[in-house]
Amino acid sequence: IKKIAVLTSGGDSPGMNAAIRSVVRTCAYHNVECVAVYRGYQGMIEGDFKPMNARSVNNIINRGGTILKSARSNDFRTPEGRKKAYEHLKEQGIDAFVVIGGDGSFTGAMIFSEEFGFPVMGIPGTIDNDIYGTSFTLGYDTALNTVVEAIDKIRDTAISHNRLFFVEVMGRDAGHIALNTGVGAGAEEILIPEENLGLERLLESLERSRLSGKSSSIVVVAEGDKIGKSVFELKEYVEQNHPDYDVRVTVLGHIQRGGRPTCFDRVLASRMGVKAVESLIEGKSNYMVGFTEDKIMLTPLEKAVKGKSEIDRELLRVSDIMTT
Ligand code: ATP
Repeated sequence: IKKIAVLTSGGDSPGMNAAIRSVVRTCAYHNVECVAVYRGYQGMIEGDFKPMNARSVNNIINRGGTILKSARSNDFRTPEGRKKAYEHLKEQGIDAFVVIGGDGSFTGAMIFSEEFGFPVMGIPGTIDNDIYGTSFTLGYDTALNTVVEAIDKIRDTAISHNRLFFVEVMGRDAGHIALNTGVGAGAEEILIPEENLGLERLLESLERSRLSGKSSSIVVVAEGDKIGKSVFELKEYVEQNHPDYDVRVTVLGHIQRGGRPTCFDRVLASRMGVKAVESLIEGKSNYMVGFTEDKIMLTPLEKAVKGKSEIDRELLRVSDIMTT
């Protein structure tokens, strides 16, 4: 391997820049050339490349987003699009790429690798933590901290006005962000897609909490929650059944995707970048770098894409006990 490309693809997440920096610097350390691809797979198809050296990634470890930009590319879903991408890579003398993204980006990498026998490595970058083969995806820890800080602020105003707040957090079909931030911010109830609490139980739980002397309540709701009601519908439902409740809704939205990465995400990104590049140099391909049980390890991309990241049952129990 003489030349490696790096790109960010799919939704952005804090820590992507730290991972780009790590890939670039690990290449420099091993005297492997490194090329950045802008705008994900679309940039690969259009030949939007830039040679990188160790100094090209100065002062980005602390920045959110991705300096390489990210994109979703429909062209890369077609054989013609991928052929163009391959031709551009070959033109540049690139022998392998590292893609930082989610499972869609990994699926694209896998298909590409099979079609052209091209070595690829994946680094999981998404705040949702919904990828099999790693306990932490890049950006997840930062998002948790952003959410907890926001809920702390909401709690201040909730207490001052004896209010009930529904706070919607990101996570798509996974409840990791909701469960962890719910426990971390001391939420009275947590609604996640993995568990169907049901509307009745929600009302009971809120009533129990009120009767036990709590003056305010925070309910953290994962965006893909199973009850199937939006936070606004939940508010309406509760108000209909308990007109005495003063209910408010906050949708945290995209602030969860931005911001300076936490130290944890920066260190994780640095470790993952080293592993990705060194694994390619060792001749490995088609893996995702993950972090499990305190170790950086590889999972075949196929498993990472097909496997399901499970919710932490022990933490669910902790959350039940804490909301007593
Ligand atoms: P996020 O976690 O933000 O969704 P992701 O990597 O899963 O990140 P996607 O939009 O699903 O985001 O995928 C990113 C890109 O990967 C797509 O825009 C497309 O170019 C490529 N891709 C996804 N699925 C395929 C596929 N089946 N075949 C080829 N390319 C694909």
